[in-house]
Amino acid sequence: MDYDVKGNLRQVLADLPQGVRLVAISKYHPNEYIEAAYQEGQRVFGESHEQELRQKVETLPQDIHWHFIGHLQTNKVKYIAPYITMIEAVDSFKLLKEIDKQAAKNERVIDVLLELHIAAEETKYGLTPDACRQLLADGAWKELKHVRICGLMMMASNVDDEAQIRSEFRMARALFDEVKSQYFADEPSFCERSWGMSHDYKIAVDEGSTMVRIGTTIFGPRVY
Ligand SMILES: *Cc1c(COP(=O)(O)O)cnc(C)c1O
Repeated sequence: MDYDVKGNLRQVLADLPQGVRLVAISKYHPNEYIEAAYQEGQRVFGESHEQELRQKVETLPQDIHWHFIGHLQTNKVKYIAPYITMIEAVDSFKLLKEIDKQAAKNERVIDVLLELHIAAEETKYGLTPDACRQLLADGAWKELKHVRICGLMMMASNVDDEAQIRSEFRMARALFDEVKSQYFADEPSFCERSWGMSHDYKIAVDEGSTMVRIGTTIFGPRVY
């Protein structure tokens, strides 16, 4: 193994205050890297491709909690619905509805996060703050009994400008507080703020993240 996965993991965990959980992002990394982190006690891992995830689920320990962190096509939901712990990047009502449908078929409730698009970068994915408000104001999500919206997820711009990154996390935090008080004040399960990656997780933690998604710092560069 080229990377000291166990040592890196210990260092990242030492940086996280109580109440901030680590999702170890293992996409494109081989099973032996995941097993090293697992031996060190890590149980929550994140993947962004359905087929890769399926192969890992079949061959790795059953008590791993898998988060789906990438863009999820509606036609793929049925494959992960039986086992996925959390779907982090829900960015449309259509996807939310499909997750509900497939969760119902599996007689379970699936935890999800709404993905925000705040970064200045062009991307197709994520809800703008207004689209997020719109989705919640519309109210149709309340009929979906097999999904549980547990919070918000976002990626800051991939820049070196710390002030910009910080201001994006703050926008996400403000929106979290707004929708929490408006729609989820009585739902303790709406509590997750998933922000912070390898290059910005310390800032994210400063700005109220409850869940960081870290890959490169633990596992090294990804081999595509
Ligand atoms: C790949 C990925 C990460 C991890 O990124 P690193 O820079 O390797 O820590 C976090 N979140 C999402 C959504 C990702 O796709």
